[in-house]
Amino acid sequence: MSFTSINPATEEIVAEYLSHAPGDVEHALKVASSAFHSWKSMSFDERSEVMTRAAELLESEVPVVAQLMTSEMGKTFAAAKGEAMKCAATMRYYAQHTESLLVEQSVPTSGRRSGVRFEPVGPIFAVMPWNFPLWQVVRMAVPTIMAGNVVVFKHAPNVPGCAKYIEHLFVRAGFGEGVLTTLFVEIDQVPDIIADPRIVGVTLTGSDRAGRSIGELAGKNLKKCVLELGGSDPFVVAASADMEHTVSMAVTARIQNNGQACIAAKRFIVVKERHKEFLAKFVDAMAKVQLGDPMDPATALGPLVSKTQRDLLAAQVASSIEAGAVALTGGVVPEGVGFYYPATVLVNVPADSRAGCEELFGPVAVVYEASDLSDALRIANDTPWGLGGSIWAQDDDEVERGLAGLVVGTVFANAMVASMNELPFGGTKSSGFGRELSALGVREFTNAKSFYVA
Ligand code: NAP
Repeated sequence: MSFTSINPATEEIVAEYLSHAPGDVEHALKVASSAFHSWKSMSFDERSEVMTRAAELLESEVPVVAQLMTSEMGKTFAAAKGEAMKCAATMRYYAQHTESLLVEQSVPTSGRRSGVRFEPVGPIFAVMPWNFPLWQVVRMAVPTIMAGNVVVFKHAPNVPGCAKYIEHLFVRAGFGEGVLTTLFVEIDQVPDIIADPRIVGVTLTGSDRAGRSIGELAGKNLKKCVLELGGSDPFVVAASADMEHTVSMAVTARIQNNGQACIAAKRFIVVKERHKEFLAKFVDAMAKVQLGDPMDPATALGPLVSKTQRDLLAAQVASSIEAGAVALTGGVVPEGVGFYYPATVLVNVPADSRAGCEELFGPVAVVYEASDLSDALRIANDTPWGLGGSIWAQDDDEVERGLAGLVVGTVFANAMVASMNELPFGGTKSSGFGRELSALGVREFTNAKSFYVA
C-alpha cells in the first residue's frame, strides 16, 4: 500500500510514499519509548533550545513548506505561509512558557509541604487531519513534547509530504530520533497501536465519526484521550452589530482555508431587524469571492481537498435544495480541472435537511433569521456540536449575552474565532473533550501528581 498526495487544483500526483509495515511500526514504538527516557530527563532550557532551533529552521523555509501544503491540500499559498509562521510562533511560545505553565503548585494543607507537580507520561499517539497539515500537528505536539513526552502520529493519508516534512524538521533541529515520529498506517492498524502498552495517551483531531472510534479504543485500553472534533459554528449577528465589519468578517470566517476549518463560521444567525441588510450585503460579497488557482495571490478561494470532499459538499447542497432550501449565490460545481466549489449562501434551510443538520466542510453558508437575540442564541445552540461561536454586537449587554449564552468551547465577540497560544482550545458536546494550548493543554498529557510532606 502507498500514501499518495494529489494536487486538488491540477488533479496531478504530487508524491507517493510506501505505507509502514507492522515491523516498521514496532521499530518506531521501540525508538519512541527509548527516546522518552532521555527526552524527559532533559531540562526545560535544553528542550527550549531545540524547539527554538526548529522555529528558526521553519521560519527560514516558509515558502518551501507553504508550497508543499498548497500542492497537497489546496489552501491558498498566502494562507499556507501564514500557517507556517503561526507554527513557528507556537514553537517559540512554548519554548519560552512551558516551564512556567508546568511549575509546581503549592497547596496549603495540614502538611509541612504539599501541592501538585506535573510529570511527563510517555509516548502519545496522535491521529491528525489534513486541513491544517502543519498546524494541527504543531498545536498538539509542541506543548506535549515541551512537557517532556514524545509523540507518534498518523497523519491524514493525503498529506504525506507535510507529515515527512515536520518529522525531518524536528530531526534537523536536533530532537533525537523518536521524539516526533510519523507513521504511514491505515486505520485498521490504529487499534493495535492504541493497545500497545508503550503508548500511554491518545488524541485525535478530526470528525466526530472518527472521534467515536478513537474514543472507544482509548476507553477499552484505559488510555487518556483528548478529542478535537468537528463543529457547525454559529455566527450570531445582534441588533447593534457594525454591519460593514460584520459582513466582511462573515465572508472571511466562512471561506478561510477554502471553507475547511473546524472553527469556520458555518451558520449565520441574524436578528430580524438586521436580517435583510445582512443578507443582501453578505450574498453580494460571497458572489464576488474569487475562486481559482491557490498559488495566485488574487485568489481568495482555492479548491476543496479532494474529489470526494467536493462531491460530498455538492451532494449536501443539492439534497438540501431538493428539500426546500434556496441558494442565493453559488451551489453549482464549476466545470474544468480541479476540485472547485464556489462560495455559496443558502436560506430557507429545513432543519432536517443535510445542510440543516450536517457539518458543511466547504464554502457554504447557511443564513437563519431569528426573532430576537434570545431566539438567535436558541438556534445557535440547537446543534449537537459546541466547538466555537461568535457574537457580533457593539452594545456591551448584547456582547455579554453572547459570551454567556453560546454553549461552545471558544466564544469570540466582534472577531473571528481563532486558536491562540495563550487560550485553551477545544470543544464541548459532540465537538470533543480535553484542551490543547495554554496551561490546560500542556497539562493534558502529564501526571498531575499530588504530594504531601507530613
Ligand atoms: P476524518 O475523516 O475524521 O480524518 C481525520 C483523521 O482521522 C485522519 O487521519 C483519518 O485517517 C483518521 N480516521 C478516520 N476515521 C478513523 C477511524 N475510524 N479510526 C482511526 N482513525 C480514523 O476528518 P478529516 O476529513 O480529515 O477532517 C475534517 C474533520 O475534522 C471535520 O469534521 C473538522 O471539523 C474536524 N476538525 C476538527 C478540528 C478541531 O480542532 N476540533 C480541527 C480540524 C478539523 P484516514 O483518512 O486514513 O481515514
